[in-house]
Amino acid sequence: MQSSIPVPISVMEKNRYRSYALHNFRSIPQMERVSEELKEAIEVVGHVLPFKANNYVVDELINWEAVPNDPIFTLTFPRKEMLLPNHYRQMKQALDSGASKDILKSVADSIRRQLNPHPAGQDKNVPMLGTTKLTGIQHKYRETLLFFPSQGQTCHAYCSFCFRWPQFVGLDEMKFAMKEVDLLVEYLKEHREVTDVLFTGGDPMIMKSKILRSYIEPLLSDELWNVQTIRIGTKSLGYWPYKYLTDDDAADTLSIFEKVVRTGRNLAIMAHFNHPVELSTPAVQEAVRNIRATGAQIRSQSPLLRYINDSPETWADMWRKQVNQNIIPYYMFVVRDTGAQHFFGLPLEHAHHIWQQAYQQVSGVCRTVRGPSMSCTPGKVQILGISEVAGEKVMTLRFLQGRNPNWVGRPFFAAYNPDAIWLDDLRPAFGEDKFFFEDELHQMFGEKIAGDHAFALE
Ligand SMILES: *Cc1c(COP(=O)(O)O)cnc(C)c1O
Ligand code: SF4
Repeated sequence: MQSSIPVPISVMEKNRYRSYALHNFRSIPQMERVSEELKEAIEVVGHVLPFKANNYVVDELINWEAVPNDPIFTLTFPRKEMLLPNHYRQMKQALDSGASKDILKSVADSIRRQLNPHPAGQDKNVPMLGTTKLTGIQHKYRETLLFFPSQGQTCHAYCSFCFRWPQFVGLDEMKFAMKEVDLLVEYLKEHREVTDVLFTGGDPMIMKSKILRSYIEPLLSDELWNVQTIRIGTKSLGYWPYKYLTDDDAADTLSIFEKVVRTGRNLAIMAHFNHPVELSTPAVQEAVRNIRATGAQIRSQSPLLRYINDSPETWADMWRKQVNQNIIPYYMFVVRDTGAQHFFGLPLEHAHHIWQQAYQQVSGVCRTVRGPSMSCTPGKVQILGISEVAGEKVMTLRFLQGRNPNWVGRPFFAAYNPDAIWLDDLRPAFGEDKFFFEDELHQMFGEKIAGDHAFALE
């Protein structure tokens, strides 16, 4: 589109996407003030965990006075503590010895393999169409299908806690990506129980509008009457709001959103926000207004992360800021056991405490949020609280989503365990030998997921 008002050069520069990664992070002007020690850590850890920032994150979100403890710096830049000390030493030694690219890669890969890169064992949810394996789809919960478009497998910046990192570092062929939207349409016709298609990645909003359109428009036909909600999981509002403002496909992107809404469907942008700072820039606020003006809804979700948002005040502030911009708080997640979990993770009891303290200080309009929730093999499990029943201290849980829909909404009890960080650390309360869903879960998967870590798989 031609604008009659000339755009000042400085504004154009600011809005032009530039990414920063391992090879060029030292050229970031703000890095001049950062100590060599921190830069070395970025170098070492960045060789193992994926690392990508961009000019919006660097110039408008990070408070460089507060580095390294600034939450957005911690969210996007590697820090020494994100690797275990022995892994850090191993990688640093390899770098110091001037090892070749190949050797550096094999050291990095061997460390990565020890970081539980596939906590979700996600191939369990890959459905079939006849004899074709639909590797770009996951169908775990009856109503909602996850779709991984192959062009949406990267992001505008990377989160240092992200469990999808094997997709970015190319560790193996496990890319949940699919080129053909035709197969998706066929599957949806055979599975009329599916009401929601959730585009995920990576970040689907990394796709140019033309490609996005080619994925979305086929879902809008009258024949697919069962598809009532299209959701797009994205961090673009947090990492690159210019996608909806000044990118050359901004207007076209918004027109796709409008088109979905015009067919009478619900379009939900599932926005990933980790900290109130991400809701505070003029750019994000305008982007939110533009999206809302298409008739799309924005719902928000985030994991609870130590060093980034581990205080009740941060969450209360974040929910309030979201609601003020007409964003609907949706999920608070517990981080799963992968990557830098030892750095970001919190025990379930602590997570619940933060949740409760935050939830108590906001009004009902913010309480659309549900959590803290673990996405694990049997479903999404919420920690409802710690209580005492018949003289025993217990943790009360319930399914927000279940592999069997009948499990949803049914409270159950685990013996109190202050050190538990995940469902597989918990045992049933009252001396019972298994949770109510365990037999059925094992029937679903046979021997395949038996063992201690059964619940860590998704
Ligand atoms: C969370 C999730 C969904 C969506 O669940 P909702 O509760 O409807 O938001 C769908 N599929 C998988 C695998 C999920 O983890
Ligand atoms: S935006 Fe999402 S997929 Fe991308 S790095 Fe962050 S958590 Fe991972």
